[in-house]
Amino acid sequence: MFKRLLTGLSLCGFFGLGWLSSPVLAQASHHHGEHDPAHHHKTTSHAPHVHGRAAMQILVDADNVLVETQLPADTLFGFAHAPRTPEQHDLIQKRHKALKTSGIRFTNTAKCRITHAQWKNPLTSQADSHQTNHADIQISWHYHCQAPTQLKDADFSPLFQAWARLEQIELEWLMPNKPANAKRITPEHPHIKLTP
Ligand SMILES: [Zn+2]
Repeated sequence: MFKRLLTGLSLCGFFGLGWLSSPVLAQASHHHGEHDPAHHHKTTSHAPHVHGRAAMQILVDADNVLVETQLPADTLFGFAHAPRTPEQHDLIQKRHKALKTSGIRFTNTAKCRITHAQWKNPLTSQADSHQTNHADIQISWHYHCQAPTQLKDADFSPLFQAWARLEQIELEWLMPNKPANAKRITPEHPHIKLTP
């Protein structure tokens, strides 16, 4: 099942909830911030576009962990248009490089390491260059864990440290043979237990 999921970039719908039917996420969807709610329809992910907020899904399958997140370009870069200055080009490159080192920190003893990290970034994609307002970035990380039975918790502080504009993560996660879970993660409470 894991391999099949990897063929599509998005886990949307995997939990059978749909983003907006989750109680935690439904609340988030009512906060549009300074945005015109209409621009939701232009985004490609199921998550509402709210600056400072990321939607994230974690799927644990045997010794593989797949993490996907969708967040506004503004939250990642501080701008949401194609890079214009050398500084903006540098920032995008820096963020891209850092994906491999600034992912979620899982339980040390589970020995999980990032094997692959990638993003879909409309700001630098030729095909999407017309999409310059309120763009969303999609990021995926693949982890391999040497001792997956030790996988008990997750620390999101590397993400909050790397992305200063990130204020909260609407997380959904799925462990093997367990019901799906959802939780809001904030910089003040960046740790969660993955298993009850
Ligand atoms: Zn926006």
